[in-house]
Amino acid sequence: MLVHLALLHYHMWIGAKTASSGSAGMLHLFVRRRLHTRLGHLRSVCGMCRCYNVPLGQIYYLLPRMTHFILPGSLSARVFPVSTAAQVFFSAWTYTPCQRMEEAVKQLDPLGSLRRTHYCGTLRSEHVGQEAALCGWVHRRRDHGGVVFVDLRDRTGLGQVVFKPDTAPEAHAKAGELRSEYVIAVRGKVESRGEGAINPNMPTGEVELVAAELRILNTATTPPFVLEDDVQVDEALRLRYRIHDLRRPLMQQRLAMRHQLLQSVRATCTDLGLYEIETPILGRSTPEGARDFLVPSRIYPGSFYALPQSPQIMKQLLMVAGFDGYFQIARCFRDEDQRADRQLEFAQIDLEMSFVGIDEVLHVLEEITVRAFRDVRGIELPRPFPRASYAEVMARYGSDRPDTRIALELVDLTDLVANSAFQVFTQAVQAGGVVRALPIPDAEAVSRSELDRLVDQSRQWGAKGMAWVRVTPEGSWQSPITRYVSETEQQQIAARAGLRPGHLLLFIADRPALASDILGRLRVQLGERLERRADRPWDLLFVVDFPLFEETESGQLTYMHMPFVAPLEEDIGLLSTQPRQVRATHYDLVLNGVELGSGSLRNHRSDVQLQILEILGYSEAQARERFGFMLEALDTGAPPHGGFAFGFDRLCLMLAGGDSLRDVIAFPKTQRAQDLFIQSPNTVEPEQLRDLGLRVR
Ligand code: ASP
Repeated sequence: MLVHLALLHYHMWIGAKTASSGSAGMLHLFVRRRLHTRLGHLRSVCGMCRCYNVPLGQIYYLLPRMTHFILPGSLSARVFPVSTAAQVFFSAWTYTPCQRMEEAVKQLDPLGSLRRTHYCGTLRSEHVGQEAALCGWVHRRRDHGGVVFVDLRDRTGLGQVVFKPDTAPEAHAKAGELRSEYVIAVRGKVESRGEGAINPNMPTGEVELVAAELRILNTATTPPFVLEDDVQVDEALRLRYRIHDLRRPLMQQRLAMRHQLLQSVRATCTDLGLYEIETPILGRSTPEGARDFLVPSRIYPGSFYALPQSPQIMKQLLMVAGFDGYFQIARCFRDEDQRADRQLEFAQIDLEMSFVGIDEVLHVLEEITVRAFRDVRGIELPRPFPRASYAEVMARYGSDRPDTRIALELVDLTDLVANSAFQVFTQAVQAGGVVRALPIPDAEAVSRSELDRLVDQSRQWGAKGMAWVRVTPEGSWQSPITRYVSETEQQQIAARAGLRPGHLLLFIADRPALASDILGRLRVQLGERLERRADRPWDLLFVVDFPLFEETESGQLTYMHMPFVAPLEEDIGLLSTQPRQVRATHYDLVLNGVELGSGSLRNHRSDVQLQILEILGYSEAQARERFGFMLEALDTGAPPHGGFAFGFDRLCLMLAGGDSLRDVIAFPKTQRAQDLFIQSPNTVEPEQLRDLGLRVR
């Protein structure tokens, strides 16, 4: 018992010491080795050995474990009432070391004074002849008839280390113990690999480090999958073992690019005179339209903070407060059902400027984008980025974020078929709808059965049906609807849609938004399948002049983006007469059919803001109740201002590559909103709920 207590006190002491200085580490290692060989039975204390690199606060966890070792369990529990959640967390944390400590402890070396001179992936012929020290993870070990080769990995890539029995027998013998993912430091000399041994597939393939000394700094559990770039495992497994996944060179590169992108954006925004200002994470519910994440207040039971869906309100308040220009790489939280490739928690490049019009904001966005592509990928984007109005892109591409590389465009035929004998068309037009079509040249490859599938698909997207026409090599129409469409109508349609032999024409007759949406989707789908995408890698487009309002199913007007968007100055008069016609100062930046972000000028006059809120259905009293702080802020003297927010993760994905946002986020949530590694969300202790005045039903 006394020995135990002495050992435990020793661990506590050494833990405290090494938390502040590394000097006790060596001594600790020595004593630890001696004690462990002598007291091999102290298995449960092994985990505690970690205390030499455990922050002091965690001794709170270790204490009850120690006393548990000595005192009866119930007594120790009373002495140290540590929550189960903390126990689970920390025992998960110490479990693995504890498991392998008994053998490993005999072999581990300290880093001591050995320091890295080069990163593994940076060794080149110019280093030949130099003494070098590398640190990293054992990626692969090969035993070639007495000579041991190790591919050593760090964030820069792989370097080859060779252990020779004749030149460094001790290091060579130790190298035999190495396994995948062991952490080592090696000192030696850089040598040329010589003819025949050069590996042209590795950037470091011409050289190798001939080891003189090997230090095994840590052992490792067996990786759950091979840590290669093209690992063929289920994503859930990659997320469950995220540490291993992140060690893969590809993931290291992607996160390095994310870092470069962050630095590029910060530099550009700073050069443009914007201040980086942080805004609170504990905020209040904002009107971005998604569900809020709520944080219960312990001090004010029944009241809640909301995590920001975006810093929209805060950045506007900063402009009112006179900061003139702001940016932030902001964390945003939206409690949405996980549609394809969304994250509950994501990053935005958020910015706002005072005394600007749309042109100045778009110039800044262009600057940020151009410099990001240059800094991260060395790509020069052509400027200026083209602009198109919402009305134009909806008419031509059926989408407000069109992939303009696809060489297919919609046509509107409503006026031509309004009096057609084909009732599907006329009924749609009479009901206030439209008839729109997608002409596809040289569409012989689309078979009849594929057409049937497309009809089914458009029904799933909400269409009542889809008519089609195929133009034969002789120029006549082959279609189930030919007999209902007159000769003249056929000629007019052919002229407007530019029909030639081989063309396929797909029609949707429905509400304008739905008809455009379905044809827009078909355009992308068939454009990809028939390889009609132009060979330009990056197509950027600003979409401007969005409507300020849109109609809900019940006919009530609602905001198209958010309630603080200002109307175009020339449309302010229409607010009281024809609100549906009012165009917004809203703009989107679209890259290859993906919305990179959106923004607008904001209402800086409280009277215009109030008028808009009234159109949205709020009485003045309700508007003041919900948005009072904003109206009050505007009345303190708000400058004209406007801004934007880029989806940072998405921009990163487009630059760094990957299949989903999860590939460019270090610790993402799954599609089912979980972190599989740290296992969140998790349940909490009843006391925590009690403190917050909450009960889980
Ligand atoms: N706050 C907006 C959003 O998150 C962007 C903006 O208008 O600046 O979508």
